[in-house]
Amino acid sequence: MTETDYDAIVIGAGVIGGAVAYELARRGHRTLSVDKGPGAGYGSTSASSAVIRFSYSTETGVAAAWDGMHYWKNWADYLGADDENGFAQLVQCGMALLIQGDEGHHNKVMPIWDRLGVPYEYWDHAALSEKAPNFDLSLYGPPARASDDEFWGEAHGQMVGALFSPDAGYVDDPQLAAHNLQRAAEAQGASFRFRTEVTGIPRRDDRVGGVELADGSTITAPVVVNVAGPHSSHVNQLAGVYDSMNIKTQSIRHETYHVPGPPDMDFTADGFAVADDDSGIYFRPQPGNNILVGTTDPPCDPKVPVGPDEELGELTSDGWETNTLRINKRMPTLGVPLPHEKKGVVDRYDKSDDWIPIYDRTDLDGFYVAIGTSGNQFKNAGVAGHIMAELIEAVEAGHDHDADPLQVTARYTGLNLDLGTFRRNREINADSSMTVHG
Ligand SMILES: Cc1cc2nc3c(=O)[nH]c(=O)nc-3n(C[C@H](O)[C@H](O)[C@H](O)COP(=O)(O)OP(=O)(O)OC[C@H]3O[C@@H](n4cnc5c(N)ncnc54)[C@H](O)[C@@H]3O)c2cc1C
Repeated sequence: MTETDYDAIVIGAGVIGGAVAYELARRGHRTLSVDKGPGAGYGSTSASSAVIRFSYSTETGVAAAWDGMHYWKNWADYLGADDENGFAQLVQCGMALLIQGDEGHHNKVMPIWDRLGVPYEYWDHAALSEKAPNFDLSLYGPPARASDDEFWGEAHGQMVGALFSPDAGYVDDPQLAAHNLQRAAEAQGASFRFRTEVTGIPRRDDRVGGVELADGSTITAPVVVNVAGPHSSHVNQLAGVYDSMNIKTQSIRHETYHVPGPPDMDFTADGFAVADDDSGIYFRPQPGNNILVGTTDPPCDPKVPVGPDEELGELTSDGWETNTLRINKRMPTLGVPLPHEKKGVVDRYDKSDDWIPIYDRTDLDGFYVAIGTSGNQFKNAGVAGHIMAELIEAVEAGHDHDADPLQVTARYTGLNLDLGTFRRNREINADSSMTVHG
């Protein structure tokens, strides 16, 4: 085989791209990460709510998220290299998935948690009232916009209870996590180039040949991995594989909001994260007695496609009002934040058609994708790195992953990860909740 500059080129140095580079480098592959941003984690990683939870609706989704938590719990050990900026920390404040009634997401989640041994507590209404005395547990859903009459309707019942995961929580600094992965990969011999844009994917001997850069130069490698976040579709087009994939990805605009915590408690110290499908929000503690609020993207909330380089503008008044009023209904002691005090983050998701990521090979030999992370894969960064490295090694050694989806053993829990779940040519997964709790 002709000598190449690297064994693998990773496009993107966000938290997923960094994990892919680290996993490949620690297996001895000569790896180059190329990112057009100024440093690691400046893409959607920087805006992540970084919620760590296990409430997925597919068995592989739960297994990945449960194993993924262990990477964060063992973060410095897993990385095995220092970072001059310190390490991102997992804050295990726990997370409650509120149960509105007999129907609901808990019905999919609970049996999988039982099968896989994911720890949880079942809180009935009385237990939930005791754990969250400042919550109004009335049912107002389904979610509506504050501008709709339904939003202001009377309550029509009471919350049944909650599933509480004590191991869930959030990572305090998502961008630092990506930097940690860069340093860990570099310690294994990986290289990183920033402010460097990939503008073409050349072919060589009927397979991927490397990347062309904006300055006109070419870097060669037999393996290229697209981890370009919201630019994933564009990079797939450069590689000529976009049309051959059944599941597509799209960049959509997304807002999260920061509101002051309740005056009657220190929510940062004593609060827990919550997934509230009745209101259409998830929320979690944020340093300084603040609360981070995100929409679960229920059907009434707009999914706004936005070009990956398009200006995002400021937080919208409609989004701010709807979501701060939603959390006010659940925690009336918060008080309604004033409209002119809008605080939060605007960024974009790389959303797949069914909100499940694509971790796969493509029809172009040597060209792989870790994309479509749909606002919910920060937590799985370590797992994504592990499964992509396993997949790349297996496929490059001749495994026919399309005919016989690779099964990977999760690093910490030993659970089976069926990579068929993440195939590019799957049908839209009807089990997906099509919403996101962070
Ligand atoms: C608002 C928000 C909240 C979220 N909340 C959660 C949550 O609570 N829990 C959770 O698990 N997940 C969450 N997510 C999702 C999670 O943050 C993402 O899945 C994850 O950060 C994606 O990482 P990435 O490395 O794939 O992409 P990115 O971080 O977007 O990185 C992609 C990189 O590719 C680079 N790039 C693109 N095109 C090119 C090119 N042509 N040449 C060179 N470089 C290129 C970009 O510069 C960028 O740095 C959230 C996401 C958002 C936006």
